[in-house]
Amino acid sequence: MTTVAAYAAPAAKAPLERTTIERRAVGEHDVLIDIKFAGICHSDIHQAREGWGEAIFPMVPGHEIAGIVSEVGPGVTEFAVGDRVGVGCMVDSCGECENCRSGREQFCTGSGMVGTYNAVGKDGEPTYGGYSQKIVVDERYVVRIPDGLSLDVAAPLLCAGITTYSPLKHWGAGPGKKVAVIGLGGLGHMGVKIAHALGAEVTVLSQSLRKKEDGLKLGADHYYATSDPKTFEELAGTFDLILSTVSAPLDFGAYLGLLKTGGALVNVGAPEEPVSLNLFSLIGGNKTLAGSMIGGIAETQEMLDFCAGHGIGAEIELIGAAEINEAYERVLSSDVRYRFVIDTATI
Ligand code: NAP
Ligand code: ZN
Repeated sequence: MTTVAAYAAPAAKAPLERTTIERRAVGEHDVLIDIKFAGICHSDIHQAREGWGEAIFPMVPGHEIAGIVSEVGPGVTEFAVGDRVGVGCMVDSCGECENCRSGREQFCTGSGMVGTYNAVGKDGEPTYGGYSQKIVVDERYVVRIPDGLSLDVAAPLLCAGITTYSPLKHWGAGPGKKVAVIGLGGLGHMGVKIAHALGAEVTVLSQSLRKKEDGLKLGADHYYATSDPKTFEELAGTFDLILSTVSAPLDFGAYLGLLKTGGALVNVGAPEEPVSLNLFSLIGGNKTLAGSMIGGIAETQEMLDFCAGHGIGAEIELIGAAEINEAYERVLSSDVRYRFVIDTATI
């Protein structure tokens, strides 16, 4: 066991504070990672405030982890000391069920996917995430960060990157396709960059025009404010695909009206309250409303290689650990440009 400095929420809705946690001894198939950077995902805030239901405290959030391997177990074959690596939202699964074998470990039906934090590991101990200086992870849940990507801008790819890459690929974003991204936050700005790199014509649908200049620089071709009712008239029937990254309940019926016949709206946002929908907005025009949750390990590596190949990292605001609570407030007020990343040396 190793004692490690971390930032934790001691209880639901309580501010995060410095603490120490124990990491398990490095096992046969484990790697020890010196965490350098950890992104702040809105999911961290939902969970630290118990917005998704009962959670485990103390909670060390963080599932956008980038660091350097500092020790490997005797059975490790893929990684060596000094490798640049990442860990995302999961640290274990059964490895044997149909979903694990087909690269969809996040939907493990055997033991269930073990979350990087706010979960219980196979050893019966709670898992603790990336707002800490070291983590021990089975090598099957570790990915390689390509040399072309700096670790700080790579960290957010481990959740925001894969969560947008996976549905954009699955639903065919590419040349000749009109894709809209709702919400220009952590996920949304990655969605814009990736959809643009895939060759799609990209539109941002943001609450206001405040971030228009940024959105166009990130690769969007068009930018609209959803607070303006004219947006919904002007864009009716426009898109092949809409990706919603919004953390709050939305009027999905209104957005389905922006799809072409046969188009799809894929939601990755995880609001704390349910939404209601008049099903005529799906029936009229053979439309699809779908969901998507992160991505599997192999696809996460594919996404990192894709991003490195296209020179894509996250736009980040690097903060010290003492600024985490303030960063949470700024994320909650949609004042993030476009991902807060913790320099874990400051813990
Ligand atoms: P974020 O950085 O806070 O971005 C969310 C964006 O949504 C905001 O920047 C804002 O964009 C827009 N928004 C916020 N409140 C809104 C409202 N009331 N009405 C309309 N738009 C609003 O959050 P994030 O880290 O990208 O995460 C977004 C959501 O995805 C969270 O719920 C998170 O838990 C979830 N998530 C899901 C997965 C998955 O696997 N499915 C993975 C990671 C995160 P504008 O200012 O541009 O309007
Ligand atoms: Zn996340």
